[in-house]
Amino acid sequence: MKVWIDQDLCTGDGLCEEIAPDVFFGMDDGLFYVKETASNYGTEKLFDGTANPAGAEGLARFPDSSLESVIEAAEECPGECIFIDVGE
Ligand code: SF4
Repeated sequence: MKVWIDQDLCTGDGLCEEIAPDVFFGMDDGLFYVKETASNYGTEKLFDGTANPAGAEGLARFPDSSLESVIEAAEECPGECIFIDVGE
C-alpha cells in the first residue's frame, strides 16, 4: 500500500508523525511528508529538500504492519490531506 500527503492542505501540526513516525516526517518548510524507511525496504527514500517530491508524486510505500496507524493518522489529520492508495 502507498500513501501521500497534499501539502497544500497540511496545517503542519505534526499529528501524523506522532501517530506513525515510520511513515510521516516534518521538514524545514513546516510541512509534513511521507517516506519509505530503510527498516521496511532496505533503501531509504527520504526527501532532501532540494528535489522534494510533494503531493501525489511523493507517494511512498508502507508495510501492512503500519496500516492501522496510517489509517488513524488519516482520520485524525485536521487538513484531511493524507491519502491512502490501497491499489498495490
Ligand atoms: S496530520 Fe495532516 S495536517 Fe497535520 S501535519 Fe500531518 S499531514 Fe499535515
